Amino acid sequence: TQVLILGGGMTGLTAAYTLASQHNLTNYTIVEAQPFLGGRLYSVPFGLNPDTGGPYIVEAGANWVHGLANNATGAVNPIWSLVQQFGLETSRSEDGIPPAFGRAGQVDVADAWGEWTAAWGRFLDLGRERQHRGLGDMTARAGLRIAGWEPSDYVHRSVEFWNFDMESQQSPDESSWFEIANNHYYTYHDFSDEEYLVHDPRGYVTVATGPYHSLPLAKQGKLLLGAPVTELHYSPDGVEARLQDGSILNAEYAICTFSVGVLQSKAVSFHPPLPRWKSDAIDGFSMSTYTKIFLQFSTRFWPATEYQLHASSRRGYYTQFQSLDAPGVLEGSHVLFTTLTDEESVRVEGLTDAEVQEEVLDVLRGMYGTVNVSDVTAFYFHRRAFLALEVAAVADVEGRWNSNPYTRGSYSNWPASYLPASQKNLRAALDARLLFAGEATSYEYLGFLQGAHLEGRKAAESVAHCLAEEGKRGCLGQDWFEDILAGQGTKQQWQRRGVDGVE
Ligand SMILES: Cc1cc2nc3c(=O)[nH]c(=O)nc-3n(C[C@H](O)[C@H](O)[C@H](O)COP(=O)(O)OP(=O)(O)OC[C@H]3O[C@@H](n4cnc5c(N)ncnc54)[C@H](O)[C@@H]3O)c2cc1C
Repeated sequence: TQVLILGGGMTGLTAAYTLASQHNLTNYTIVEAQPFLGGRLYSVPFGLNPDTGGPYIVEAGANWVHGLANNATGAVNPIWSLVQQFGLETSRSEDGIPPAFGRAGQVDVADAWGEWTAAWGRFLDLGRERQHRGLGDMTARAGLRIAGWEPSDYVHRSVEFWNFDMESQQSPDESSWFEIANNHYYTYHDFSDEEYLVHDPRGYVTVATGPYHSLPLAKQGKLLLGAPVTELHYSPDGVEARLQDGSILNAEYAICTFSVGVLQSKAVSFHPPLPRWKSDAIDGFSMSTYTKIFLQFSTRFWPATEYQLHASSRRGYYTQFQSLDAPGVLEGSHVLFTTLTDEESVRVEGLTDAEVQEEVLDVLRGMYGTVNVSDVTAFYFHRRAFLALEVAAVADVEGRWNSNPYTRGSYSNWPASYLPASQKNLRAALDARLLFAGEATSYEYLGFLQGAHLEGRKAAESVAHCLAEEGKRGCLGQDWFEDILAGQGTKQQWQRRGVDGVE
């Protein structure tokens, strides 16, 4: 095979589609560890739809289109284009102040929300301004403090968690100020500040699988499902992948799309061992977990709003509840889901379904009154599908977003200590043959589907270029920083070095 595409998520499938449709390169093989395509896009049947007698389809993985289109500049989020191309059902998510409840009923969060909104605007502006002046990065916590945000009580901390952690999955203390400001700018300023929830019976996974499956069969390359890669051997002559079942695949080029969490877990070994500049770039990044827990009830006992906030003295303890039982969404479904992140996500992955359900019900009883909480008719806490030959005992412990050996988390987050030059190294190819692509290698759209999509497209274009140019003038985009020096990698320094700009 000419090209190995390692991983069949958004990045890998976009790379396949780009090779076949734009460059007429069809001699490629997609190698996917799990028994299905889509990776962190995971649409799953849930509960009972009384209108059809069948289940609803809910999204255990990615669910929103973040940022749509900018009418003034003509910039369009490519994920929004795909959603429109396939006619997926969506609805705009509310962005106002949600009704809020504590252990004993309603809580007023309006003042804290107003303070947050003002500070957040300053945080974004100052982050961009300081970066353009060449100043050093700090934690988002420092940036928020400089912007005037000091959460003094559990109401303020809940408002902060809702507005910050629910997007970045990690706290301001663990996140980069500059990267959060950039990420926000590229998506919510360059596209738009809208967020659309996808709730289509075909599943959001269609944005990844749809284009690939629309290729004529002869252009779909070879597809290996349930085929974990355990070793990658690379040299200036090509790449060899060894699979768990002992088989060996050779190719001129390979595009590795495994998540940063998977690369950090060392489940795939590299031969020769990764150079220090590459392993530092992988180990220095962050991958966190975002967990949705779905419940269907016999009646709807919560307000008709899309969102409800649970204000708890314990940071991030079931802070967000989201109703799918709304006009234009899954009206009449009585389906609610709640979201946890980071340490709380990892904690509940160690509990049984019954224990998690009891925790959620206990919170809901505090919010809405014990007598009002109706019976649970369906419950789903994400666990990936397993091949029939995989034993049930393994399925019990290894199927959640963090514990799944093929995801090891939900999406990446940029720590304050990480420099732009390090991300360049995360992305750089080894021996100009083994490329790396995924949501984490996108500078502008880190974490988002549009990042995965654009990185898949760019990697395929690089490979197509390399194949066309082989023996002439080498490949594009293979530069890296051998040593990351203190203070290196600011925009100004990159320009002085004549390396690609970061914007
Ligand atoms: C719970 C959750 C919520 C999210 N919400 C949103 C959202 O609302 N909007 C948004 O834009 N983004 C969201 N994201 C992020 C988005 O899903 C990801 O950015 C995107 O799907 C990543 O695509 P990828 O192809 O880079 O990686 P992946 O989807 O992880 O694809 C990599 C593939 O490699 C495979 N693989 C791993 N190891 C091996 C191996 N050893 N051998 C062979 N194959 C292997 C994996 O099985 C996987 O299929 C969310 C993610 C999660 C998990």
